[in-house]
Amino acid sequence: MINILVGSNWGDEGKGKMTDYFAKNADIVVRFQGGNNAGHTIINKYGKFALHLLPSGIFYENVVNILGPGVAFNLSAFIEELDYIKSNINFTPKILISDRAQVLMPYHVLLDVYEEERLGKKQFGSTKSGIAPFYSEKYQKTGIQVSDLYDDKILSEKIDTSIEIKNILFANLYKKPTIDKNEFIPELIENFKKIKPYICNTTKFLNDSIKSGKNIILEGQLGALRDPDNGIYPFSTSSSTLAGFSTVGAGIPIKKINTITTVVKSYSSCVGAGPFVTELFGEEGNELRKRGGDNGEYGAKTGRPRRVGWLDLVATKYGCLLQGATEIALTLIDVLSYLEKIPVCCEYKIDEELTKDFPVTNKLYNAKPVYKYLKGWKCDISNIREYNDLPKEAKTYIEFIEKFIDIDIKWISNGPKRENIIMK
Ligand code: GDP
Repeated sequence: MINILVGSNWGDEGKGKMTDYFAKNADIVVRFQGGNNAGHTIINKYGKFALHLLPSGIFYENVVNILGPGVAFNLSAFIEELDYIKSNINFTPKILISDRAQVLMPYHVLLDVYEEERLGKKQFGSTKSGIAPFYSEKYQKTGIQVSDLYDDKILSEKIDTSIEIKNILFANLYKKPTIDKNEFIPELIENFKKIKPYICNTTKFLNDSIKSGKNIILEGQLGALRDPDNGIYPFSTSSSTLAGFSTVGAGIPIKKINTITTVVKSYSSCVGAGPFVTELFGEEGNELRKRGGDNGEYGAKTGRPRRVGWLDLVATKYGCLLQGATEIALTLIDVLSYLEKIPVCCEYKIDEELTKDFPVTNKLYNAKPVYKYLKGWKCDISNIREYNDLPKEAKTYIEFIEKFIDIDIKWISNGPKRENIIMK
């Protein structure tokens, strides 16, 4: 049984919490794209954590956590995060790293930082983890695979090829110091020794596990609208965030997928630059930001205040379509409990024309949200565990979303903890 768990919007939909919840019945959890730019918040008996690179099955002793070939693998970030998690749990987590995953190098991080600086006011709001330079290099075919770390000569030659270009950019475009491979190779080799026990052919392991009927979760990072091909390019990320890519990034056949759980947030939030049609400013925005998430809407990776807005069903329906959602997990519904009436964007008005279709990025700048207003429930719903115990206004809100998107809402998350969950 393979379930893909992905986001419908801009990220921060609560995928970490949902993966942690589902992982109790899983044998394997796989990260298939992105790197340590993720920030999946998990609150459980061990405390509160923001997972960046580690899969969200890490808190279960019996779950094998895999970093697949599609991941941007930063060795030092991995070691630091794993040490931190291990110091908070009372068992040794099971982890496997694909020998085909590529290594995110220190010069990718520098490039990311310098490029944002160069762009100035036009910067993307990158997490500065080196992700865009990493994937650019991968597709340029000068990247370094984990398997290259086994051979000092191959590694050194590949680094030479790669940093030749970087140093020209550093010196001439960015006016920064050039880099010398001897400054970072010793640390890379030291780190490699530490991670060596985790490296293997994860593709074989996963495909053998599929044959023996294991329960597998493929865990996406960010959301559908951050997909570079179908999202709000260039305010996207640099690897595909779609369920369709998960089999590529994990190295398994597409035919084996059973379900695609798409996580939809009950309102909108977004980190970084780019058009955001239902964005709220002033007091209304501050109020929602303050009440959102588990302790306000602040980036789990960056700590930056998140931009917030009302639920955008035009964007969400498009996101669910891109993901091929077979079921929806609706999260953070408890956050809306303070509202008398809840605005929901059901259409965009672009240059006097109404549309329900999510347009290209340039058109989004002119899009005005057209709202329907649903009645609020005005009471705390976070302790409710049965769907029928929810106030009728909350059920109407949920069913309105379900009807609009036309996909079953199977899970409702009404609080940040593992136990805050309702099966519909
Ligand atoms: P992810 O990257 O998709 O895993 O999402 P983030 O962790 O970046 O952001 C989701 C935020 O919402 C975190 O602060 C979570 O602790 C919190 N959260 C998740 N589900 C719920 C929920 O149902 N209710 C509330 N109040 N907070 C939630």
